[in-house]
Amino acid sequence: MLSTMQDVPLTVTRILHHGMTIHAKSQVTTWTGESEPQRRSFAEIGARAAQLAGALRDELGVSGDDRVATLMWNNSEHVEAYFAIPSMGAVLHTLNLRLPPEQLVWIVRHAADRVVLVNGSLLPLLAPLLPHLTTVEHVVVSGPGDRGPLTEAAAGSAVQVHEYEDLIAGRPTTYDWPELDERTAAAMCYTSGTTGEPKGVVYSHRSIYLHSMQINLAESMGLTDKDTTLIVVPQFHVNAWGLPHATFMTGVGMLMPDRFLQPAPLADMIESEKPSHAAAVPTIWQGLLAEVLAKPRDLTSMARVTIGGAACPPALMEAYDKLGVRLCHAWGMTETSPLGTTSNPPAGLTAEEEWPYRITQGRFPVGVEARLTGPDGDTLPWDNESAGELEVRGPWIATSYYGGAGAEPLRPEDKFSEDGWLKTGDVGVISPDGYLTLTDRAKDVIKSGGEWISSVALENALMAHPDIAEAAVVAVPDEKWGERPLATVVLKEGASADYESLKAFLAEKVAKWQLPERWSVVESVPKTSVGKFDKKVIRKQYADGELD
Ligand code: ADP
Repeated sequence: MLSTMQDVPLTVTRILHHGMTIHAKSQVTTWTGESEPQRRSFAEIGARAAQLAGALRDELGVSGDDRVATLMWNNSEHVEAYFAIPSMGAVLHTLNLRLPPEQLVWIVRHAADRVVLVNGSLLPLLAPLLPHLTTVEHVVVSGPGDRGPLTEAAAGSAVQVHEYEDLIAGRPTTYDWPELDERTAAAMCYTSGTTGEPKGVVYSHRSIYLHSMQINLAESMGLTDKDTTLIVVPQFHVNAWGLPHATFMTGVGMLMPDRFLQPAPLADMIESEKPSHAAAVPTIWQGLLAEVLAKPRDLTSMARVTIGGAACPPALMEAYDKLGVRLCHAWGMTETSPLGTTSNPPAGLTAEEEWPYRITQGRFPVGVEARLTGPDGDTLPWDNESAGELEVRGPWIATSYYGGAGAEPLRPEDKFSEDGWLKTGDVGVISPDGYLTLTDRAKDVIKSGGEWISSVALENALMAHPDIAEAAVVAVPDEKWGERPLATVVLKEGASADYESLKAFLAEKVAKWQLPERWSVVESVPKTSVGKFDKKVIRKQYADGELD
């Protein structure tokens, strides 16, 4: 028997319409580095999104499922693009501005982007690539920055250059948004290609809608129109973890840092704009911590922070507890939209009892089913001890990668199981009450004499040392054991520590056979394009003899 309920498509258009009417007065505040930030209401964002859609259709000829790329910081124009492009039926393609140029070129061509919206401050990055972006017909520039390099690069080519504000000026502030099939593509995002070529994940209207609803549940981020969220996680990093969409559902104010992502301006914007929530990867919070310890600022408005993208060292959580800021750990990936788990402890516990839950990656929400698969393919129990590869499935989890125009979707065997689960490549354990603890990425785990050593456990233990700012541990080849850990550490300013004392400190926390024999003090840990430890580079530095 079929239900008697309406089958209304779950689309980004509906999120846009809801936000700009019901939460018309909520604001997107963009940091400008000047005395006053730029402020735009959701109603204005909605009107400007309609103008942008009109310009893209009538002036630039965008139609069907054309891909429109953005090479932009987090700012209100980027939010306008987030809603205009999918709502008109086209596909928003956010470009990671920290990728190596050759990968950017590869991605733009693979997605066959016809239009690129770009911030003026990023033209020095885009202009030299323009001759290679063979699918691009239009570039639309917004915000400050010298237009010279782009004008020069476009001269003599077929690419047309437009100013964002000129393009939308005077156009109707309403748009006859089409009724879309909820399963069609709304946005796409490529993984950073740390292993092989980048892979495109294509989000549907439906997956974005359902994911945004989950973000808004109290067991995830649970924000309301009384909140303002500081969205540091870039809009090109898995849709800023879904926050721009989720906030339009509930009227949460957005504070956008634009290009001011260094610790000092972040501390200033928190003190002056008083966001109640923020989201970013651990390296951002490490940097901010050092900044406010050196030059105190009041961060207490920011009662809650969502931290993820890489393991959050427990020592960092403790340090922020002391500042009145509660870090909440979350796990996810590009393929999972990204929300996979959030570490809110169960009810009824004291602060002390909550701690072991807070340092896990968190609990699965209703939309994410999980299982652990052992090395020989068995499904492992949730006993908090049996470690295996995490596999997940659900309505906002990828089932394949984009294969390119007209090509079949890609379903590599190491990423998708035969029965349709996503193989995350993350190794961990799950407790009987559903809390995930990741011990490693499959490719980072250290296989020493038939036993596994968790690089994350060693890093967390080291980062609790008072002299250590950052620590990354990787596997290096070893004749006797196969692999052994190499610890690279960054010392805090003015600190000195010798390897023997660090080893003694570690010995109190981990088994003796896991203690690294190889150590290296480095100036900084190499980071990936989204600010995570780049272990591939560290392994290479070791192989090239650059590390002790
Ligand atoms: P990339 O694979 O290029 O780093 P993603 O942003 O999709 O791009 O990264 C997803 C991966 O990041 C996960 O598979 C996991 O290894 C890691 N990750 C994300 N969140 C956490 C977390 N809270 N703790 C540990 N690792 C995490």
